[in-house]
Amino acid sequence: MNIKGIIPASLLDWPGRVTAVIFLGGCSWRCPHCHNADIAWKPERVSDITLDRFPWNSHIEAVTITGGEPTESMQAVEWLIESSLKEVQIKVDTNGSRPDNVAALLEYDAVHVEMDIKAPLSNPDLYAKLTGERADLNEVRKSIEILKQTGPRGMFRTVAHPLLSAEDVREIWETVSRNPYRVLKFREPSQSCQ
Ligand code: SF4
Repeated sequence: MNIKGIIPASLLDWPGRVTAVIFLGGCSWRCPHCHNADIAWKPERVSDITLDRFPWNSHIEAVTITGGEPTESMQAVEWLIESSLKEVQIKVDTNGSRPDNVAALLEYDAVHVEMDIKAPLSNPDLYAKLTGERADLNEVRKSIEILKQTGPRGMFRTVAHPLLSAEDVREIWETVSRNPYRVLKFREPSQSCQ
């Protein structure tokens, strides 16, 4: 099922909600600041966690599915959604590389999708630098438009990487300002898989 990790309860992953966090393996991008590079880039080196059912309990209000890049593991994401929808709200994190899969997730009325916008779209060189030259900006743009049209279930965030200026962050915010948007503090990644 490609489930590589679980945090039973977090206050950080979905503002205002106590959420369990499920980590899926695999991501085709190579962001130099990736914090989960071990499961994202070498998922075969990390054992799968086997679940018979979703690990819901009465203390959590929501579940965040993250990675890695969840839209590269749609079978696992859809199994998690369908086995938990009646019990909790769900947020799926994405880098926006697969707009068709982002749209498919939003077919579930209770699912929120939060996209990490890495840099201003007007600066393709910086976007490339912050994604290891892997991002297709046309696909990123399509995902942003899909999420903007979804209303509050379409959420955005940016990690305040040192290469981003305040003007860069403002430009990103202006791109998505009608939707929920947050800026996350930059933290140096571990060196485990780089
Ligand atoms: S998109 Fe996310 S999971 Fe993939 S390399 Fe970048 S930070 Fe890591």
